[in-house]
Amino acid sequence: MKAAVLVKPEKGSSQYLTLQEVAKPAVKPGHVLLQVRVCGVCRTDLHIVEGELPQRLPMLIPGHQIVGDVVDGATANLSIGSRVGVSWMGGVDGDCPYCLRGLENLCDSPTFTGYTVNGGYAQYALVRSDFVYPLPKALDDLHAAPLLCAGIIGFRSLRVAGVEPGDHVGLFGFGASAHLAIAVLHSWNCKVYVATRGESHRAFAASLGASWVGSEKERPPVELDRAITFAPSGDVVVSALASLRKGGVVAINAIHLDRIPEFDYDKLLWGERQIRSVANMTRADARDFLKIATDIGLQPKVRSLPLDQVNEALAFVKGDSVDGAIAIIP
Ligand SMILES: [Zn+2]
Ligand SMILES: [Zn+2]
Repeated sequence: MKAAVLVKPEKGSSQYLTLQEVAKPAVKPGHVLLQVRVCGVCRTDLHIVEGELPQRLPMLIPGHQIVGDVVDGATANLSIGSRVGVSWMGGVDGDCPYCLRGLENLCDSPTFTGYTVNGGYAQYALVRSDFVYPLPKALDDLHAAPLLCAGIIGFRSLRVAGVEPGDHVGLFGFGASAHLAIAVLHSWNCKVYVATRGESHRAFAASLGASWVGSEKERPPVELDRAITFAPSGDVVVSALASLRKGGVVAINAIHLDRIPEFDYDKLLWGERQIRSVANMTRADARDFLKIATDIGLQPKVRSLPLDQVNEALAFVKGDSVDGAIAIIP
């Protein structure tokens, strides 16, 4: 099969992945083989190919927002031809202290799709059959793909921030994840304030109904109940914190941050403000979000590229140069 393979992570490379012919994976117990229809591109992929996350496999096929058809390993619940989605969380052990507490997103022995096992930048992908999500017909392949990580983990960020209906919510950064979160927030009657780099992203946020848009250096006009940061930048976290009311929460939706700068505790954190990170997702997050996405008719903006342009796709993510999401068609 054709696959895009990472051999050596390298920051600033223009050729992160090389297109190769590799063996089609053989199905094994507890797994299904998918023929990949579409695989969404995520900022985490960029952290992997640039080595900001440590290399885990000598040869890796990244990609963890997979839409595919079951072609082998069918089970009672997953017949041949079932169309399913796969996300970043590709498996857990089920018996560590976190799994036993219902916090499988924090599992001590997790499997991450397209990182600790091969992912979806290929014609086929082998995935655990208990970590796939049947996709409703209303979601076509291309528009379902970005929901699978950008959407699900963005949704988890809203949960971690404790968003309640009617809240004033700040989104700091406006990429694939934020442009899906804003639709969920509007369905909860929240007012959304977007601070982001780039005129195009600001115009895009305004077109999706943001109550206010500004640059990453501007402060929203009201004190925020909740804020979610999407940029891999600690400065942005401090800006978000400075925009909160007392008792407000900042949730950081980033697997990697450049650093956390020093900040003034008395002014910024005292008053029971909280900073929380968002780590991975649970299967319940996935099911709940896909239900909401279907109910509200969520339509991501997605640009698609063929597999042989996967490096261009990663460069678009790095440069924040596409509004909405990007997906690969193998
Ligand atoms: Zn576990
Ligand atoms: Zn992701």
